[in-house]
Amino acid sequence: MQLERFALTAGEEVTPVRWKIEDTPERAEFREEFRAWLKTVLPEGWVDAIEKGDDKAFESARGSGWDFMSWMGTIGRSGYAAPLWPKEYGGLSGQSWMVQVIREELASHRLPTFGINLLGVGLAGPTIIEHGTEEQRRRYLSKILTGEEIWWEAYPPHRSGSDLASLSTRAVKDGDQWVINGQKVWTTLAQLAQYGMLLTRTDPDVPKHEGLTYFILDMHAPGVEVRPLKQMTGSSEFNEVFLNDVRIEDSQRVGAVGEGWRAARTTLMNERAALAGISLDPVSIFGGTRRDPWTSFVESIPNRNDPLVRQQIARLYIDQEVKEITAFRATSARLRGDQPGPEGSVNKVFNAEFNQRKSIFAMDSSGVSSVAWLAEDKLAESRATTFLRARANTIEGGTSEVLRNQIAERILGLPRDVEVDKAIAWSSTRRN
Ligand SMILES: Cc1cc2nc3c(=O)[nH]c(=O)nc-3n(C[C@H](O)[C@H](O)[C@H](O)COP(=O)(O)OP(=O)(O)OC[C@H]3O[C@@H](n4cnc5c(N)ncnc54)[C@H](O)[C@@H]3O)c2cc1C
Repeated sequence: MQLERFALTAGEEVTPVRWKIEDTPERAEFREEFRAWLKTVLPEGWVDAIEKGDDKAFESARGSGWDFMSWMGTIGRSGYAAPLWPKEYGGLSGQSWMVQVIREELASHRLPTFGINLLGVGLAGPTIIEHGTEEQRRRYLSKILTGEEIWWEAYPPHRSGSDLASLSTRAVKDGDQWVINGQKVWTTLAQLAQYGMLLTRTDPDVPKHEGLTYFILDMHAPGVEVRPLKQMTGSSEFNEVFLNDVRIEDSQRVGAVGEGWRAARTTLMNERAALAGISLDPVSIFGGTRRDPWTSFVESIPNRNDPLVRQQIARLYIDQEVKEITAFRATSARLRGDQPGPEGSVNKVFNAEFNQRKSIFAMDSSGVSSVAWLAEDKLAESRATTFLRARANTIEGGTSEVLRNQIAERILGLPRDVEVDKAIAWSSTRRN
């Protein structure tokens, strides 16, 4: 139940995109196969209700025994949750375009496109597949897919802020074990997770990128303390995690000692691709219907004839088109089979700021109900919570400033930012 609540706060139901590429025969066949599978696993009436656009019938089908966690298990065992993963680890050994087809079908069938285990499926899994041992792959991957074991991310850009490689969580070898000490703030879902991806400093006397080692952390190990942080939205999605003399077996190391940065880069690359698509659902802030959110959005604005308000609506509409076209470029690259490219950063920056503009406009245009509402007014509550939550969008998963630096360097080819500490031992660098 608690997990379900978090899944829904993550904007699980997304509005289907309007920009689509025509299917090749191969893609059309896969789409049909996936639709047929959906029909066999969803409650009776679900698919028909979607095809007819019958919201009432849909709600009744969804209410008849569908629940989020069982759905995770169903899709997790099917291979469709991670089509790119090798078959022997629960995937389909498929191609990148399959990810896109599955996402589109999930969205149009009003199913979660990102499970609660987004960090596990999107980040930990690919890192373990690429850098882990065979034993680790067999032990962890299938349970990530079915949601039986939830994962969190204990490091990216983060313990040390934007400059991940300067982190100070220490790991010291003791026989077959490592002893870990450190602290990490803002860890999403750590209070619900069984495992975490942990990047530590194992050698302070070499430059910052070279002395790092990556581990799988058991969240229930002695010495791991998770303190939920209460956010201004009233919920506690995030935590502060303290690691006090936590012992990790050497068998839980991912990659070689001192080569944690390589594994971390895999996690980071997948993080951006996973987070880039998450966008605020207009129906949750403006109300209206999911089939035509923009018309219902415009109709929901009381003073829509005011010229200044109209300008803002036009701006949001243009933003929406730009967002979809940018996402469409990423989609067409995926359909061609290309790897996630720099457009992940562009999408992340744009989406984060667009979410904020949308939620500010929703608050501005709803008058007094933005600040005080009746308990039964769920739309007003959702609008206010979404507005507050959207503040974090330009910080989490890499700040917009840092991502703009990356766009400048890697896409526009501008000179690289100066890195004064690149070649000196981490222990000699200045830190806060
Ligand atoms: C809601 C939320 C959820 C999060 N979830 C997780 C999680 O699950 N796991 C996890 O590990 N972390 C998580 N984080 C942490 C998050 O990734 C960091 O907050 C973020 O990377 C920025 O780091 P910082 O807060 O230390 O700020 P700093 O890095 O100290 O940055 C402070 C300011 O300086 C700017 N800045 C820094 N470096 C540069 C530069 N080179 N050029 C220009 N400007 C710069 C930044 O943009 C920012 O405005 C989460 C954060 C939030 C808000």
